[in-house]
Amino acid sequence: MSTYTLPELPYDHAALEPHIDARIMELHHGKHHASYVAQANQALDNLAEARSSGDFALITKLSKDLAFNLSGHVLHSVFWTCLSPDGGGAPEGELAAAIDDSFGSFADLRAQLGEATKSVQGSGWGALAWEPLAGRLIVEQVYDHQSNVGQGSDPILVIDAWEHAFYLQYLNDKAAWVDAFWEVADWTAAANRFEAVRATP
Ligand code: FE
Repeated sequence: MSTYTLPELPYDHAALEPHIDARIMELHHGKHHASYVAQANQALDNLAEARSSGDFALITKLSKDLAFNLSGHVLHSVFWTCLSPDGGGAPEGELAAAIDDSFGSFADLRAQLGEATKSVQGSGWGALAWEPLAGRLIVEQVYDHQSNVGQGSDPILVIDAWEHAFYLQYLNDKAAWVDAFWEVADWTAAANRFEAVRATP
């Protein structure tokens, strides 16, 4: 059976400074993300045990555990590839054209995605996602890791708005963290992800 594993970061912990402190990266990847991976695997093991014993008394809790931790694993795996020491700037090519089609302009996307991320209540994410039914890009304001999203949409670029993503450096100024994110946003990786999900039926 396949299980989930923590992906390696494609850069050093300090590579994104001064926009993201090395200590944040170290804890965020090595502790928070690692915990989601471990708990997603644990949820699968617990569900297998429930099937084998026929005891589904905890099915509601275990289903939520799987959704929360698996979604946390997926979003963080995308998030690390949304960041680069060579990031910033604006998207190019077909992703840029799709952003213009779906939002009017890159500036309009940035305004919507930035506000959606800054205004998350509690813990969550802002996400630029491909919505395959309409064949367009949308912005989602994700709660926790798994709520307030459209089924079937694929994340293209995600911004972590949990306090663990910024508090050690930006304290309570979540808006400053979101503004800093644009300086390390990897639009080349986002364009590659856009091409991949758009080709998937
Ligand atoms: Fe996080």
